[in-house]
Amino acid sequence: MERSTLIRLTGIATLFLSVVIGSWILFGSRSVQPTEIAPQDFHRFPGVSGPDHATVVPPRVPTSWTAYGEGSKSRLAILLTDPDSSWLGLAHGLKSIGIPFRITRDVREALTHQVVLVYPTISGKVLPPEALRALAEFPKAGGTLIGMQVVGGGLNEAFGFREAVASRQRYDLRLADSDPLLAELTDPRERHLRVGIRDKGVEVMGTYGYTDSAAPLARFDDGTAAVTQKIHGQGRAYAIGLDLGFLLLKGYNNRGEELVRTFDNQFDPALDVWLRLLKSIYRTAQAGAVTLGTVPFGKSLSVMLTHDVDFTQSIKNAVDYAEYERSQGLVGTYFIQVKYIRDYNDDIFFNDEGVAYVARLAELGMELGSHTIAHSRVFSAFPMGTGREAYPAYAPFVKDRTTAVNASILGELRVSKFLIDHFSGQSIVSFRPGELSNPFSLPQALLATGYRYSSTATANNSLTHLPYQLNYDRLTDSEVELFEFPVTIEDEELPKMGDRLPDALEVARQIGRYGGSMVVLIHPNILDHKLAFEKGFVEGVRPVAWFGSVGEFGRWWAARNRVQLDVAPSGRGGTVTMTAPESVAGLTLEVPGGWRLDPSHSSLKDIEQRGTTVTLPQLKGAHTLAFTAASR
Ligand SMILES: [Zn+2]
Repeated sequence: MERSTLIRLTGIATLFLSVVIGSWILFGSRSVQPTEIAPQDFHRFPGVSGPDHATVVPPRVPTSWTAYGEGSKSRLAILLTDPDSSWLGLAHGLKSIGIPFRITRDVREALTHQVVLVYPTISGKVLPPEALRALAEFPKAGGTLIGMQVVGGGLNEAFGFREAVASRQRYDLRLADSDPLLAELTDPRERHLRVGIRDKGVEVMGTYGYTDSAAPLARFDDGTAAVTQKIHGQGRAYAIGLDLGFLLLKGYNNRGEELVRTFDNQFDPALDVWLRLLKSIYRTAQAGAVTLGTVPFGKSLSVMLTHDVDFTQSIKNAVDYAEYERSQGLVGTYFIQVKYIRDYNDDIFFNDEGVAYVARLAELGMELGSHTIAHSRVFSAFPMGTGREAYPAYAPFVKDRTTAVNASILGELRVSKFLIDHFSGQSIVSFRPGELSNPFSLPQALLATGYRYSSTATANNSLTHLPYQLNYDRLTDSEVELFEFPVTIEDEELPKMGDRLPDALEVARQIGRYGGSMVVLIHPNILDHKLAFEKGFVEGVRPVAWFGSVGEFGRWWAARNRVQLDVAPSGRGGTVTMTAPESVAGLTLEVPGGWRLDPSHSSLKDIEQRGTTVTLPQLKGAHTLAFTAASR
């Protein structure tokens, strides 16, 4: 029923769109309002019209694995056995958690690294006999081999199992009770993972369960091993029974309905545990392993305070939140609904009074972002649009909860940005849709209209507490230079937000154990217990948190994403080479225990080291850092 409504709706929207386009052709740039909106239901800012330029959505260009092909022997090597796979999910996951890696299709090249991950499968179909033999020898010669979906090729003995049994009936898996690699995974939600939720009755991804594995790191619910572990002297071999790239993309693409347990407000590290396991394996196996931290300036939690301004009273109250944030030296992100039309949802509030408040938010140093114009629940079903939508001709009208006319995705994005930019003096880069309605084409539409950071998903429906890069059409093969910062805590669930402060601080504590990020969403429709929550939350996390707006953290994260990190061992320490194409301050490195910075042989000043955490000042271009290892 829902689907047929959507199809009908799209039809109606297209029809009205052509009416609007018709008006454009007939009347040129004269302001034309569709007949169904009365003048008193439309706020006209005299002399304001635009944007003038046209938006062109770029075509989909598949990302080549060679984009991740460079790097030294210190990196994790991914031996890609099938380029037509979900490798981009794995690449984005490793980027998020901060493991330096490179992709190769050359077995010999891969085996010059100390840690090799074979993806997406090992079998006689994808690798020739001599390559399989070389892989089998690798752990015996002291290397660490991670095989994903090891289904053939005679490597059973190397990985320590008898048979790989395929099934679509496995839902849960549990980590082994005690293994040094799993030492940091202590929460029950980290020790009990899932590939699906049985009660949902939805088909889940296929997995391979390994039989007769002696000391597996994880087991499926049917008792077969999900992650084997075989020790060969110094070498190690791990067979993972599922396609981790595919699983990661289910979260990042928001297509993991069968895995999603809660919407928000909960700690759910379903994807993060896998990335932390890979990080643990890499840091243990790689001599001189250096990984990239996830939180600026060596803190353990990134916090973004965000506000959706989508109600008449909210735009005025927003200033109270902003004044509090400014008093604390914080910058909040205010997603503004550009509401210049009165409709089913609400009255007009993006008017002369409203834009004065928007200007005041900018004056207080706050970041402004877009929260669309129509704030329609069915934004996800809007047509893409023409890329020529402009104020005041663009007049989306919400008729009820499931119907909006004259509306398009590009219209919502480009016209809201134009008006917020115009009245705030900023050039906005952050976006959150009304009702978190998420069109498949949103990544490329955002990119085309000048946005860089999205806060559209929730942490729980994307299954992660780390930011991640988005893909074209939320599919598998084309990355888009756009990052998602999912909502962690919001204010609409009951009990009321003011009563949920201890729960939220507990979620913060869980996420802060591994450098996750937390986006807090507070609608400023009231002050009262919501503002009290914000104050209590800020006080509660202040000792461990780095605070920033979505734009600030987004710029940091995007710059971090481009950093190249390599290590050359020297003696018992090593020389770290970092290349940052964009200027970025507060990057952190996690170095091996016992490493001490040698400032006299490093090309940067003002580096701070606390234990294994090294915080860098402003960084741009290539730099080297020398470390010596204390003798133990
Ligand atoms: Zn909203």
